[in-house]
Amino acid sequence: MINKFDLIIVGGGMVGATLACALADTQLQIAVIEPNIPAAFSLDQAHALRVSALNIASENIFKNIGVWQGIISRRSCVYRRLKTWELDAQRGATLFDSTEQGVDHLGHIVENNVIQQALLEKMSQANNIKLFVQKTRSIDVQPGATLVELEDNQQLIGKLIVGADGGNSLVRDAAGIGIHSWDYAQSALVISVTMSTAQQDITWQQFTPTGPLAFLPLSGNSASLVWYNNPAAIKRLMALNEVAFLEELQASFPDALDQVTAVISKGAFPLKRQHAQQYIKEGVALIGDAAHMIHPLAGQGVNIGLLDAAQLAQCLLAASGEQMSSADEYAHSTRADISSLAVLNEYERLRRRHNLLVMQLMDSFYKVFTNNNGPLKVLRNIGLGIAGHLTPAKKKVMALAMGLEGPLPELAKR
Ligand SMILES: Cc1cc2nc3c(=O)[nH]c(=O)nc-3n(C[C@H](O)[C@H](O)[C@H](O)COP(=O)(O)OP(=O)(O)OC[C@H]3O[C@@H](n4cnc5c(N)ncnc54)[C@H](O)[C@@H]3O)c2cc1C
Repeated sequence: MINKFDLIIVGGGMVGATLACALADTQLQIAVIEPNIPAAFSLDQAHALRVSALNIASENIFKNIGVWQGIISRRSCVYRRLKTWELDAQRGATLFDSTEQGVDHLGHIVENNVIQQALLEKMSQANNIKLFVQKTRSIDVQPGATLVELEDNQQLIGKLIVGADGGNSLVRDAAGIGIHSWDYAQSALVISVTMSTAQQDITWQQFTPTGPLAFLPLSGNSASLVWYNNPAAIKRLMALNEVAFLEELQASFPDALDQVTAVISKGAFPLKRQHAQQYIKEGVALIGDAAHMIHPLAGQGVNIGLLDAAQLAQCLLAASGEQMSSADEYAHSTRADISSLAVLNEYERLRRRHNLLVMQLMDSFYKVFTNNNGPLKVLRNIGLGIAGHLTPAKKKVMALAMGLEGPLPELAKR
């Protein structure tokens, strides 16, 4: 028997599950395929290695789809200040403070599996979403009737297939959508630690010629550190024994890092920039890392992926005659085929432009800060502003990073 759906979402990670939740309890019949379900959460478990800095737009999306409470009731850490400085800073540091933006906080650091769990919980309560905990064996893309075969031989047919299956997207390949891609000459070593100090409300980053060193606070006296360097240097660090690693960590990170009492876990991530040549085809849409991967130095990857999910949901609801109440621009929409280019074009038009802007900004940070020549040093001082002065450029970059600016879908607004 073939199961029929309006929408098949391949990948129930943070972005795919957000799309499903944004369409919960509508007329659309939705299948979500996700083989990796996180284990049940318990407050006394150690912090997971993978965490995300969620901005205000992401918080709004999660509030509007009813999962924010599920996230913060598990575990999260609010941050109100963000500080950046250079290794040989003669001009001092740049501090972004939530009060400068007229908001209570800049964002929250949350473990990825906590976000995914809160979303899966919400999905399980919806009457129109079916979760398949399976690997995908094959995808035959046919506009309006794509056939998906799962590892356990089940077959699904969907009018629209959404690739939310990450950087190595099977959906993208099955749809024949190419990518523009290059490797950054950098890897990120993510380190989950416990500290001698209690919970902090600041996230900071020191720029060095070999790459940034970053601190992200977690709840209690835990923290997540990110050590960027060339892949060979990261490989060497990964191979050190516990004592040698801790010594080198403490010696390499700036004094702003209080004493690290233990390394809980660590993992290395090669970094690449990747952008799908198209986000859509008739009957296909890509969201999140399946559409774009960017340098994580300013923590924007999942934030822009969540905007994709919110925007696509808005376009699909408008097309199926279930427009969101506050989306005036769709107030007079009539029913349309959700797999049609007429519907999907709007999603690509709005999201591609914004994602490209964020990607270019991350690339310029990467190029300007991973470089020690004179003119670029001058440029970065101008770009970030001199200690404490909130230049218009700095304010604009901050508003973009916080998700307060750009073509925001309705769900990302307060
Ligand atoms: C070191 C590092 C730090 C980062 N920090 C931040 C940060 O602070 N803030 C931020 O915004 N972003 C950050 N990012 C980026 C962020 O992690 C990604 O953008 C985000 O995980 C993308 O989510 P996604 O759901 O699109 O893809 P993924 O997280 O890759 O999820 C894809 C899902 O699809 C599933 N899947 C894969 N293949 C299949 C298949 N064939 N069938 C079914 N399911 C499949 C997988 O199991 C997975 O659950 C960071 C990235 C790195 C590397």
